[in-house]
Amino acid sequence: MRLIFLGPTGSGKGTQAKIISSQFGLRHLSTGDMLRDVSKSETELGKKLEEIMTKGDLVTDELVNQIVSETLNKPEYKNYILDGFPRTRAQAEFLSEIIGEDYLVINFDLDSEILKTRVVSRFTCKKCHAIYNIELHPLKKEGVCDICGSTEFDHRSDNNDESITKRIDIYKEQIASILDFYSGKEKLYIVNASDTVENISKHIIDTIKTIDFE
Ligand code: AMP
Repeated sequence: MRLIFLGPTGSGKGTQAKIISSQFGLRHLSTGDMLRDVSKSETELGKKLEEIMTKGDLVTDELVNQIVSETLNKPEYKNYILDGFPRTRAQAEFLSEIIGEDYLVINFDLDSEILKTRVVSRFTCKKCHAIYNIELHPLKKEGVCDICGSTEFDHRSDNNDESITKRIDIYKEQIASILDFYSGKEKLYIVNASDTVENISKHIIDTIKTIDFE
């Protein structure tokens, strides 16, 4: 089973990717996480990525396509959720070339102003990567991760106002052409991302169950 989650930063696609991947035993492949790992390395490429990502720009299609195809070529990558890829029409076309047409695309649709509030107050557990939000999904016990008990958290360096606005603008520029690519193939499901986490998961699960994956 191959799922492709499309949506701007803050739309909740990462949270849903975690829930759905664990329920169906799928690998969760986030290009943002993969690129952040590379950006932490003390290499020329690492430094360049750090700069691009902090500003909220997109990394080149060439580099992201290469990272994704190297991963998806591994035999253990048969059933997965792609989170954050494709982000351009060229990436969508490349993806179809390498994986064929057996997939379902889920687009997380949400208003830009709600997105901004969500992203500014978002933080993640350093150890298990659980995603929290000061307003929408706070910690049950202050300073302690609900899932693994860790007391260390990450606030992403790209979650500043300028970077968020740029990421949302770039998303809006690119998404129409990506949706056009997928809607022509009738493999597209649109989810109302302002709904509750539980309802969104339910809608996605119900939809997945109607699809005959190879
Ligand atoms: P995310 O964690 O999905 O919000 O991604 C964080 C950052 O990684 C983005 O703002 C981009 O700079 C970069 N990135 C992630 N996925 C892609 C992609 N598919 N194409 C280009 N850049 C990407």
